[in-house]
This record gives sequence, structure tokens and C-alpha cells, in this order.
Amino acid sequence: MISDTIAAIATSTAGPGAISIIRVSGGEAVDIVNKIFNGKNLRTQASHTIQYGWIKCPETGVIIDEVLVMLMRGPRSFTTEDVVEINCHGGAFVTKRILELILICGARHAYAGEFSKRAFLNGRIDLSEAEAIMDIIEAQSDYALKLAANSLDGKVTKLITGLREKILDIIAHIEVNIDYPEYDDVEEITNDILLPKLIVVRHSMAQLLHASKTGQLLKNGVKTAIIGRPNVGKSSLLNQLIREKKAIVTDIAGTTRDTVEGFVNIGGLTLNLIDTAGIRKTDSIVESIGVEKSKKLIDEAELILLVLDSSEILTSGDIELLELTENKNRIILLNKSDLPQKINTTNLPSYILTSMIEESGIIQLENEIKLLFEINNMKSDETFISNTRHIAKLNQSMTAICNATNQLQIGMPIDMVEIDLKNSWVFLGEILGEDTSDSLIDELFTKFCLGK
Ligand code: GDP
Repeated sequence: MISDTIAAIATSTAGPGAISIIRVSGGEAVDIVNKIFNGKNLRTQASHTIQYGWIKCPETGVIIDEVLVMLMRGPRSFTTEDVVEINCHGGAFVTKRILELILICGARHAYAGEFSKRAFLNGRIDLSEAEAIMDIIEAQSDYALKLAANSLDGKVTKLITGLREKILDIIAHIEVNIDYPEYDDVEEITNDILLPKLIVVRHSMAQLLHASKTGQLLKNGVKTAIIGRPNVGKSSLLNQLIREKKAIVTDIAGTTRDTVEGFVNIGGLTLNLIDTAGIRKTDSIVESIGVEKSKKLIDEAELILLVLDSSEILTSGDIELLELTENKNRIILLNKSDLPQKINTTNLPSYILTSMIEESGIIQLENEIKLLFEINNMKSDETFISNTRHIAKLNQSMTAICNATNQLQIGMPIDMVEIDLKNSWVFLGEILGEDTSDSLIDELFTKFCLGK
């Protein structure tokens, strides 16, 4: 248990708001706030109540602000310690003044993230849940928020714990075989028994990693480039997608110069539109920014919307762009479908007909994007791992499981296999922030009552 009492402003200090919250946590939290609170005696009030009163300077008795004070006694609080939150008026000066009084009365200013750290150290949340709090704060879309909320709710913890259980089961079996070969009631572990178990775990991990890709896309968005020759309708498409006239659309190529970076939400998936300046180049994108640079842009993009003018025949520029984007996540749009068609579509792969004038084809485009990124396949209650650190750890764990499987298949001794299994278990534990070496032993003993 950490003994000192910490305090900090919990709300944004960027500008004035209606209210600010000052959070105090630790053994002295109630006493300290009580010293500056003019209202009921906080020491005698029940936990999880809100008290109305005034903050006053304990030395001069001068009244500072009218406040509501929330009382949450440990262990039923975020940090598991006594927590007091003061809701005061949202001015920067008044908020800082109250914090100052709290510090004078004996609290220490908290370090960044210290409340969450205490929650973690006191076992209230694990590391993945602590990280989820940050993810919630940083979320930019409904899905990002949902993913983070799921993680905070312990769903990621449950998934990881489930996998660890399976691995631990296998390790436990191996250990028993190695240490107690004379036990008759212990099933002898052979490759034939072990391999299918490992394959099951490997499969679950692979599935989780695959789903995590979608999770990350949903969280971070998809880098999207709209490319095509001048005047084919790229800016018009951008406007349609953004649904506000941010880019200036014109007949005369080259008169629109403002760089527009846009974010578009398609069924919960955010498209981050990149290099929109390139959209308005006066010459063919390939000629004007150079093949190398367009290749770089194309490489960088996770999705390419290639716009062609269906009222004209294919040009060499179109063909070059078609070739450059061949192996990418690409959607071809044949725009200006409201005009007489001149484009020869025989050699074109699948495409969507659009008209920015008639505002048609956009729904098909949105559906195609969802299909491409498997957004529709997502079950609404599915839990994804979207935190980059978690995915990295999961990948390490998966590699260790693959090593174990390979070792087993080439007939390596079982204790070699066990090393990889333990590594795999440890990597998963790191997602939850667990200190591993001791707990592995502890858990093994809870699984097998060998001394009985
Ligand atoms: P960009 O140079 O590729 O960005 O093309 P713009 O979006 O600036 O469009 C060039 C011209 O084509 C403008 O006059 C647009 O109004 C027109 N345009 C864009 N899309 C369509 C379409 O679907 N049908 C027709 N008829 N005109 C279009």
C-alpha cells in the first residue's frame, strides 16, 4: 500500500469550462479536504455520497468557491484508496487555487498517470485496462471508443487469460511428467497428445491476431489516397465523402491549390485521406509528382481510390496508374457515369460506376470499402485487441507457440518445447502487466495438488 496522499486537477486545464475536478487519493484524502471544506464534516459522511459546501482558506477563512465534493472510500474507489473529488467552478485560477490549498494541507502533487498507476499497483486494474483508459481518452471514433471500453471492461483480459489458461494446462502436464514420472494417475504426455493441444492454441492466437488487424484499422483508420488524372473528379469525390465543401472544385485544372486533409467515417471505419494536395496537380499525378513519388504515395496508402473518367477513353496515364496500384487494396471508380460513356472496360478489373453530379455510386463505394476491410464480418460483441503493445506481445507469444510446435514436430525433447511454451505464457502475461516468474509457479500449484 502506498501511503502518501496525492492530488491533481483531473479535468482539462486548456481553457475555462463550467466545472473542474480536483482529485485527491490516499489515506489522508478525506482529512485534507475536510480542512478546507465548509460544509458537513466529511469524516463522518458515508462513502459514495456527494456533499455540498464551500472551499475556504484554512488560515484566513476566506471563501474560495462553491463546490460539490464526492467521497469514495477505499477499497471501492479507482485507486482502491480513499478518493475525494472536488467539483469546483471551471476557471483555471480558482481550480489551481483549490489544488494549492490541498497541497498546503499535506497532499503531494501527483505525477502524470499516478492515479492509474496506483489503481494498477493496488490490483484494481491490470495493465491492459490501465492502457484502455488512455485509449478511451484518445479515441477518435465510435469503434475506437468501443474497443477501448471493451478493454477497460476486462474483455481483453478475459481473452488473454483464457489463452494463458490453455498454455498453462499444457505446461502443467509436461511438468508433472518430468517431475513425477512415477505417478500412475498422471496421464503420460506424448507428442500425439501434445501436438493437437498446441495446434488449438496456435489457431486461437492466429484468429485473435487476424481480428486484431481489423481492430487496429478501426482504431487508427485507413490511410487512403484518391488518385487519378486531373479533372476526373477526385476533388468532387473527396467532397462527396467529406460531405462538406472543403475542397474547391473547378473546371480549370490547377486553380484549386489548398491542401485538404480529410477524415471520412464509413460504417465506423475512418478513412484518413492522405496527400490530398496531389489530387489537384495540374498534370497527370504520375508526371507531376514523378513515378517514384507516386509509387511512394501508393505504397504508403492502405487503400487507393483510383478515379477514371468514364466519358473519355483510357489514357496512358490511366494505364500507368492502373499498373502501379495493381497489387494494392484498390477500388476503381469510373466517374462521370452521367455522361455518354467512351471508356473501354473490357480489360478493367472490377469497378464501381459513380457520378458526382448525380451523387450516385457512393453507397456502393462505402459497401466495397467495408467488404475490403471485413468490417461487415465483425460481430458487434466481438472483442479485438487494438493496442499496439498488446498486438506486439501477442505476436511474440504466437512465435513462441509456433517454435514449440515446430520443436515438437521435429522430435525435440519435451523440456525444450516447454521453454517455448513458458515464453509464450510470459509474453501474454506482459499484456496484463504481470510479474511472471513467481506467479507461474503459484498458478501451477493451484492447478495440481501434487502434495495430496
Ligand atoms: P479533379 O481534378 O480530379 O479533382 O476533378 P474535379 O473534382 O475538380 O472535377 C473536375 C470537373 O469535373 C468539375 O467541373 C466537376 O464538376 C466535374 N465532375 C466531377 N465529377 C463529375 C461527374 O460525375 N459527372 C460530371 N458530368 N462531371 C463531373
